[in-house]
Amino acid sequence: MVDTKYIFVTGGVASSLGKGIISASIGKLLQARGYNITIQKFDPYLNIDPGTLNPYEHGECYVTDDGQETDLDLGHYERFTGVQTTRNNNVTTGRIYQSVIEKERRGDYLGKTIQVIPHITDEIKRDMLYLGKRNHYDFVITEIGGTVGDIESLPFLEAIRQLKWELGHKAVCVHLTYVPYLAAAGELKTKPTQHSVKELQSLGIQPDVLVLRTEHELSSTLKKKVANFCNVAPEAVVQSLDQPTIYEVPLRMQEQELDATILRKLDMPVGETPGLGPWRSFLNRRHQATEIVNIGLVGKYDLQDAYKSIFESLSQAGTYNDYKVKAHFINSEKLTAENVDKEIEAMDGIVICPGFGQRGMDGKLLAAQYCREHDKPTFGICLGMQMMVIEYARNVLGYADANSSEMDQKTPHNVIDIMEDQKNITNLGGTMRLGGYECSLIEGSKVREIYGREIIRERHRHRYEFNNDYRQDFEKNGMICAGMNPECDLVEIVEIPSLSWYIGTQFHPEYSSTVLKPHPLFLDFVKAAILAKNGNSGK
Ligand code: GLN
Repeated sequence: MVDTKYIFVTGGVASSLGKGIISASIGKLLQARGYNITIQKFDPYLNIDPGTLNPYEHGECYVTDDGQETDLDLGHYERFTGVQTTRNNNVTTGRIYQSVIEKERRGDYLGKTIQVIPHITDEIKRDMLYLGKRNHYDFVITEIGGTVGDIESLPFLEAIRQLKWELGHKAVCVHLTYVPYLAAAGELKTKPTQHSVKELQSLGIQPDVLVLRTEHELSSTLKKKVANFCNVAPEAVVQSLDQPTIYEVPLRMQEQELDATILRKLDMPVGETPGLGPWRSFLNRRHQATEIVNIGLVGKYDLQDAYKSIFESLSQAGTYNDYKVKAHFINSEKLTAENVDKEIEAMDGIVICPGFGQRGMDGKLLAAQYCREHDKPTFGICLGMQMMVIEYARNVLGYADANSSEMDQKTPHNVIDIMEDQKNITNLGGTMRLGGYECSLIEGSKVREIYGREIIRERHRHRYEFNNDYRQDFEKNGMICAGMNPECDLVEIVEIPSLSWYIGTQFHPEYSSTVLKPHPLFLDFVKAAILAKNGNSGK
């Protein structure tokens, strides 16, 4: 029986301070000490999951292998620790309420008035302990979305207060705040941190560790002052200074003994500091890479968070190819027949991004055409793959009106069509083809060579698919279906073997690329882009 310990990570002062990265770093450091860990996120919004949220509001929607649409922080957890998350690693207020209301309807609480306290908070507590109770984790790290002081976060904080009391020395709270620098005064200000800790204390939670996000080095006097005002030990005040890459954060935290401090608070032996060898080698390689390879991301959202996992997968693949990937956002809504040459020519490789709906589609098609005609390394992901297929049907097979039935329900040439089991779905939330499925790679294909094996497993998030009625037509004319679902014959990968690197995947390989296990497709794509840059097509 493992005596599971619980680490709660809360945030104050402002959002976007990097709570996800701090949680992932704590996970990484404890894992390096040989502990079994998992990281979960509790989000205070009412959506059941972020699947229906606009990426402008919430960034990318990350998908777990077991098919849950989740917050993008779960992507950081997996990239840092290599430990797969599940549908139980991301819980929203919406899900908590749904479950409580279902129980009420079933009659589970018969006779009782259902209230936020204790019914909602009990449900939260149950979910917070769930993974620790079901699996043998030494540590369950729980990140709370939002900022202390938000009305929505209150039930989560009340649950933590109760759990800290019930679990005693088995639980700690790490609170992340911000120390702003006032340029005019030339001073770093601790007042917002003091206020945020007071707010937490007024809810009955005494943080055990404070992580102070800052753009300037914090003096030991300042840290002592914070410790004094906030009832925290001086060594439990840690700074989180801006880093050239998020992957440096575990090292900075280890240098300040964040992991050791947490272990001490939990009455656990500290022992030797782990070397983090492979992680350091990755970072060394990253620092040594100076040459740049330019990758264009053709998509309709001009913000990095919307394609977070793609950015990170490319950047990891760059390091393993000893290059720096410079990702350039190319807004597909602004791409036209007039400017496509100029926009794409300068890139060494192009990713055609995933997405939903008509907006920006024409630009993606133009990009696919340009890349195909100029043999530019091109990686189409999900909708990106579907665009490759439509472009090929229109310009090579001669079906000028070819389309996806997502964009034009009546198209006579629906080369991309709604999946059979999606036809009668009316609810949009959580009903796509989601999560990990097997795919069999065709002998002799480029992808088979890249993966080096026949059966792979990749994560999905889509409703539409390649229409098998057209398969022969495509294959006769040079675009082959290189990966198939072995059970239901869905086309998972297309490629054009006559080009140096032109591959589209119906699945999302970006969800499973991690720092220590970069994804083979991204590795090979970036390699092809480097070859193209250096004037060698690699064919
Ligand atoms: N909109 C497309 C579909 O539903 C692609 C989805 C995606 O790119 N994730 O099939």
